[in-house]
Amino acid sequence: MISGEQIIYLDNNATTQLDPAVIEEMLPFLTKYYGNPSSGYNFGRQVRQAIDLARERVAALLGSEPGEIVFTSCGTESNNAAVNSALRLDPNRRHVVTTAVEHSATQRHCEMIAKSGCSLTVVGVDSEGNLDLEELERAISPQTAIITVMWANNETGVLFPVEKIAEIARRKRVLFHTDAIQTVGKIPIRLAGLTLNSLALSAHKLHGPKGVGALYVNKRSAFKPSMIGGSQEKNRRAGTENVASIVALGKAAECAAAALTEENVRVRAMRDRFESALLERVPDTFVNGSRTDRLPNTTNLSFAGIDSGAALVMFDRHQLCCSAGSACRTGAVETSHVLSAMKVPGERARASMRFSFGRFNTEADVDKALEIIPPVIAKLRALSPTGATREPATV
Ligand code: PLP
Repeated sequence: MISGEQIIYLDNNATTQLDPAVIEEMLPFLTKYYGNPSSGYNFGRQVRQAIDLARERVAALLGSEPGEIVFTSCGTESNNAAVNSALRLDPNRRHVVTTAVEHSATQRHCEMIAKSGCSLTVVGVDSEGNLDLEELERAISPQTAIITVMWANNETGVLFPVEKIAEIARRKRVLFHTDAIQTVGKIPIRLAGLTLNSLALSAHKLHGPKGVGALYVNKRSAFKPSMIGGSQEKNRRAGTENVASIVALGKAAECAAAALTEENVRVRAMRDRFESALLERVPDTFVNGSRTDRLPNTTNLSFAGIDSGAALVMFDRHQLCCSAGSACRTGAVETSHVLSAMKVPGERARASMRFSFGRFNTEADVDKALEIIPPVIAKLRALSPTGATREPATV
C-alpha cells in the first residue's frame, strides 16, 4: 500500500485528504455514541443533537438556514434527487435543461431520463468553457421542469455565472439546481441572496469522508424525495442517518469556512506558480478553459505531442498524482467530453492533464512536481512515434 505521506498529491478535485480535526470529531460516533438519532432516549437524542450541529455548520458555510440542508449519501445522490424531484412535482413539465460539460452524476442521469420519455436540451459552451446565457434562456420552455447546471467544472475549474442563471430561472419560473460539488469550500457562497432552488455538495471534496453529501433545498421550494421509507430528514431523505459521516461533513464545513479566505490566497498562489512555471519551462503547453472565471485550485494543461495516459503512468512512477481527464473516467482512455464540448482539438484534448491543489499541499510539493514534470514531458515527446508532435501555437 502507498500511504499519503509518500506521494505528491495534486488531484484534490478527485478527492481530498481527511482533515485530522474531522477524524477526531467523527470517531466517537463510530465507537461510543452509536445510538439511533430517531430513538426517544437520551442516548439517541445526543446523536440527533450532533446531526443538528452538523446541519448548522453546513448551513453556515453555504449562507443558508439549517432547515434547508438534507443529508444524503454522496454528491451524485444529491444531484439525482433534485432532478427527480422536479420531474415528479409537475407531471406536465417533462423537459430538463442542462449543459454539455456536466459531471456524469448529472449527464448520465439526464440521458437516462431522456430515454424514459422526457425531453432534454443540452446547452453547449465556447472554447473557453463559458456558457452562452442567451442560448440557455432560449432552451427554456413552458414544459421545462428544471435547469441543472454545475457551478464549477471538475475538469477545468471554469465557473459558471450561477447568480445570472438563477435570475433567468426566476424570471422564467423554472426550478434551478446547481451541482456545487467542486465549488463548496473553495470559494465563498452566500445562498441567502440567491434564487437557487437546490444545490449539491459532497464531503470528500472538502476534506471530509467519502460516501456522504448534502442537498440544499430552498425553504420556499417544494421537494419530492427519491428515497422513500422513514421520516428522516423531515421526510426529504429516508434511511437511518450515516451519523459519523454527517458529523464529519459538519466539521469539514466548519473547517472550510474558517480556512476559506486564507486558502483561497495560498492555494491560488501555489496553482499560479505551478502553472506559470510549466508554461515557461515546457514549450507548447496550453491552458484549457478560461483563466479568469476559474476555481483557485485547478489547472488543466495540454502538453502538445504527449498522450496523457502515458504521462499519468510516468508521473505515477515518481509518486505524483494528478488526472488525465476526469478521474471517474480513467481506466478507459477516452477523450474528455468537457474538452470535446469546448472544441479542443482531439490531439490536444488527449494531451490534457488536470492538476488540482488543496489544503494540505505545500510549496515543496510544487517544487517537486516542477522537477518531475518537464523531463517526463520531454521524454514522452522524444518517444512519440511521430517525434515531438507539435500543434500550431494559435490553436
Ligand atoms: N459532480 C461533480 C462536479 C464532481 O466533481 C463529482 C465527483 O467527482 C460528483 C458530482 C460526484 O460526487 P460524489 O463522488 O460525491 O458522488
